[in-house]
Amino acid sequence: MKTIKAQHKAVYEPIGELVTYRAMPTQTVPMNLLDPFIFLNHHGWQEYQPHNNGLPFGPHPHRGFETVTFILQGDLTHKDSSGVVSVIKEGGVQWMTAGSGLIHAEVSSPEFKAQGGPLEILQLWVNLPAKFKMTEPKYVGLQKADIPVAELDNGKVAAHVVAGDWNGVKGPFEPLTDIHLSFMYFKEGGKYTTQVPKGQNVFLYIVKGEIKINGDFASIHHLVEFNHDGQIIEMKATADAIILFGYATPFNEPFFAYGPFVMNTKEEVMQAYEDMKNGKFGNEEELM
Ligand code: MN
Repeated sequence: MKTIKAQHKAVYEPIGELVTYRAMPTQTVPMNLLDPFIFLNHHGWQEYQPHNNGLPFGPHPHRGFETVTFILQGDLTHKDSSGVVSVIKEGGVQWMTAGSGLIHAEVSSPEFKAQGGPLEILQLWVNLPAKFKMTEPKYVGLQKADIPVAELDNGKVAAHVVAGDWNGVKGPFEPLTDIHLSFMYFKEGGKYTTQVPKGQNVFLYIVKGEIKINGDFASIHHLVEFNHDGQIIEMKATADAIILFGYATPFNEPFFAYGPFVMNTKEEVMQAYEDMKNGKFGNEEELM
């Protein structure tokens, strides 16, 4: 059994009218505590009124890592400096490898802005190891129908498989490193037991509801930190619940993050700002 070391409450930090809970980093969660899972913002749940301004994430750069965005409700339009425009709806996932760098905007569709509606979006940042930090940028957006579901415990648990192998169901995204990632819907009483290989870091965040994990209760807005002891994780939902769950081999590399850049050293981050100034990431105006 893997024991729980700590539970960390996400910090409420709204961005304008966008409800936002930041699960990591926080005061108790250094950015690379769960290396290579480094950042998580939980937007919503909330209801937008008709004629709203949508999401506030206009054009901005990234370099050195990947953003994985789970659209649980609402929609998300991604536009980037390579010319991609992609609208992903409820149940879909966007996986963007920033690599050497690009500029993107993450906004709501014209329909969502006109009609409003419920919104809940999670954005996770997954680090890239030094050898892939300057890889070519890549974006893949998949709708709900393209993401396979592993039905477990007689349908009481549905694992939406994003990356890696889950009970024989393979995720459609192919990360550059061995990232396992899924988002799971539990009905009250639903159970799931899994084994995480030794030496891997576990990332587990409660999006909704309450769930018993190896005997301890964990509830909405909590990030669960495990000890590196056993390998078995047993989950049992004590209410309808949604969790984000993953594991990966840590890189154990030097880490330096500032603003939208995540590199190995301060010099590399300074270089990113220099490259940004010199227009190497592309043109912001085209994405306005
Ligand atoms: Mn971004």
